[in-house]
Amino acid sequence: MAKMQEHINAIMNPDKSIYTLHPPLPTKLTVELNETCNSSCVFCTFHSSCSQEKFEYGVMKPETAKRILKEAYEKGIGMQEVALFATGEPFLYVHLAEVVAYAKELGFPYVYLTTNGTLSTIDRVQPVIDAGIDSIRFSINAGTRESYKQIHGRDEFDQVIANVKTTADYIRNNHKETNLSASFVKTKITEGEEKILSELLKDYIDEIVAYIPHCLDEIASGVKETYGIDAPSGDHKGLCPRLFNTMYINSTEAVLPCCASQNAKKYHLVELSKTPMGLDEAWYCDGLTNFRKMILEGKTEGTVCEGCYMRDSMEDVYTFDLD
Ligand code: SF4
Repeated sequence: MAKMQEHINAIMNPDKSIYTLHPPLPTKLTVELNETCNSSCVFCTFHSSCSQEKFEYGVMKPETAKRILKEAYEKGIGMQEVALFATGEPFLYVHLAEVVAYAKELGFPYVYLTTNGTLSTIDRVQPVIDAGIDSIRFSINAGTRESYKQIHGRDEFDQVIANVKTTADYIRNNHKETNLSASFVKTKITEGEEKILSELLKDYIDEIVAYIPHCLDEIASGVKETYGIDAPSGDHKGLCPRLFNTMYINSTEAVLPCCASQNAKKYHLVELSKTPMGLDEAWYCDGLTNFRKMILEGKTEGTVCEGCYMRDSMEDVYTFDLD
């Protein structure tokens, strides 16, 4: 099975025993180094060009990221994977290679990021690969220059494709082991274009995954109607594994249920910068426990989890290996 599929499978289909109010410490850790982004993808809950809201986008100090990573490693958090991004563009973070190198030196087995690829020119991507990143995923949500402009809000499709190719060449020519993949968020106006993208990149990437965006309702009214596609057959009332196996920490050190809840302060369940506590204490804080209770009891009305596709089966949301 392809690496990315294997990882998503492990995250989305965990052992059922974790679905309790107090699950084991999380095997997946997300540390958002920066929420800043240079794109405005229509489906992004934090940066969408469709949103009227003004958000604050933070940047984490490298020493803070290192402190969190060190504590997590010592406590056994993130042993399945560590994501150094959530809603922002990681290549805007000037200390990216330094933090990747630190995470790998600590011993985390799988450290990865997703980039929109606009900035991942070889001079920026090479230090990150050399630092030991295990996987780089390019988020490319269109198959043509025209639709890319509509979705991403930037006319840089050709540049992104060129960046994927030079990254792949560097990995190949230097016998690096970094897994290279692409992700494609399906929308009404790019229907079927994941296959065009797959064809364009098949000689350069290891795999591609297409998936349905979650929580479009959170962005603005009408976004789901305009861009939403292929509503999964599920009832969106299942268990969301993220609350039970993944710890999200944003750039201001707020602990969140997931990246979809980034945009509302009410979902900042613990502010570690204001109320210092151990990551293990934060994992068992009242806010996260209450979220787990809501999901376990199916009472999510009025929250970001209501109607979220992540509560359906993985087969409803993801498509792998498009070619
Ligand atoms: S169900 Fe809730 S916690 Fe899970 S991904 Fe959706 S919004 Fe996030």
